[in-house]
Amino acid sequence: MIEFRNEPLSNFHDPAVRDRMKEALAQVEGMLGQYYPLVLDGRRVDTASRITSVNPAQIDQIIGEVAAGDASHVDKAVEAGWKAFPEWARLPAEARAGYLFQAAAALRRRKFEFAAWMVYEVGKNWAEADADVAEAIDFLEYYGREAIRLGKGAPLVPYPGEDNRMTYIPLGVGAIIAPWNFPVAILVGMSSAALVTGNPVIIKPSSQAPVVAAKWVELLEEIGVPAGVVQYLPGPGGAVGDALVDHPGVRFVNFTGSKEVGLRIVQRAATPAPGCRWIKRVVAEMGGKDGIIVDETADLGAAVQGILTSAFGFQGQKCSAGSRAIVVRSVYDEVVERLREGVKQWTVGKPADNAPMGPVIDESAYRKILHYMEIGREEGRLVAGGGPAEGPGFYLQPTIFAEVHPKARIAQEEIFGPVLAVIPAENFEEAVEIFNDTEYGLTGSLYTRRRDRVEYVREHMFCGNLYINRKCTGALVGVHPFGGFNMSGTDSKAGGPDYLLLFTQAKAVSEVL
Ligand code: GLU
Repeated sequence: MIEFRNEPLSNFHDPAVRDRMKEALAQVEGMLGQYYPLVLDGRRVDTASRITSVNPAQIDQIIGEVAAGDASHVDKAVEAGWKAFPEWARLPAEARAGYLFQAAAALRRRKFEFAAWMVYEVGKNWAEADADVAEAIDFLEYYGREAIRLGKGAPLVPYPGEDNRMTYIPLGVGAIIAPWNFPVAILVGMSSAALVTGNPVIIKPSSQAPVVAAKWVELLEEIGVPAGVVQYLPGPGGAVGDALVDHPGVRFVNFTGSKEVGLRIVQRAATPAPGCRWIKRVVAEMGGKDGIIVDETADLGAAVQGILTSAFGFQGQKCSAGSRAIVVRSVYDEVVERLREGVKQWTVGKPADNAPMGPVIDESAYRKILHYMEIGREEGRLVAGGGPAEGPGFYLQPTIFAEVHPKARIAQEEIFGPVLAVIPAENFEEAVEIFNDTEYGLTGSLYTRRRDRVEYVREHMFCGNLYINRKCTGALVGVHPFGGFNMSGTDSKAGGPDYLLLFTQAKAVSEVL
């Protein structure tokens, strides 16, 4: 098998590539407004209540309607998963990996179409949407290969007179509770890792991005994944999410989302329902208050570019977003000035027209972020933005506050929107202390030209993904295994060589010869 390599990103400067994206946007626009039922045990199931998915960039445009399940559907989904389990679990790893490679090929053929769905459903611009699909393809190719490696078992120490083997067997039926911000990449990654290790899954997509998730489930059906191996079960977090987490038949929960929901899941999963025979495993990737340090030796041009991209890419709606810039005093004013200048490139407009910045996901996010902009006015000096932007959706200006105290709310709380706090530090060491002074620990960057400082932060910046002289978003599968410390989650390192272990249990068999 050829070695894993990351899927190349599309070059939208090429007019032919632009045309393909425009065609896909037109094609998907023609498919908007359809209805997607639940998929349980390979059958379509209608429900009384529904979720309407709207385009955050144009709120009178309906992306689609999906069925909304309840606790009774959770029971059916769990039952279907366990029915499919024995056969799916018994397949050799190579056979299950084959499904992932087929899914990768199908996704590659439909790359622009899937990107276009995200442009409409969550407001990604072309490059962000394209990178999201590329990452999904990467997860499939990478986890497929990883499953084959793991399928060979672990090497053990030879012992005279015994045949000893250790193999990794599946856990059972799992819930995949997915976010809207990487509605293809993260959903595909979370579900395919569980599937390829032999676990049937119940996918509960985010209510903000249920349609593109339905497309993923359709794709899995098209490539022949057997009935019952994947259920599609959208619904409210309070009903479907809790019921999945509480269900005695759910063996594990793979979650990506907010800290609040993640902690709720950890707590509920720890309390076994009557009849539950296991300690439910929870994999949770949660928030971040990620920071970029700029010292006095840094290439300030590169640093400013990196800060802006990390803060405002996809409107700051990434758990990896660099929402704090921590800049040493001697270059502070210059960096702030350059940020004020540079942010002018980050114009706001329609994702379908490929504007650098689009809308935030929904009204509640919009209001929450506006509220933080108000708080920011009290806590810092407004350098740019600070309010709504024009447009028929949830548009906000890219916003920068300077002279923010490290303990300020906008320097401590995850905003998940286009708000950057620029914090002064007296010197480099203090900058590192400020960086570490948060309950999160997901991503971080340092811009410097000093080698000793590079070595210093390897040890002293406390985060799961540390970058030197580059932005703090855009982890690549296989290259930058992704996951964070403390309240950022269980540090599961998606896209890394340890990830699949989370969906297996190791069995050691010792036979006397
Ligand atoms: N993996 C993404 C990155 O490195 C972030 C994922 C997330 O925001 O959930 O930018």
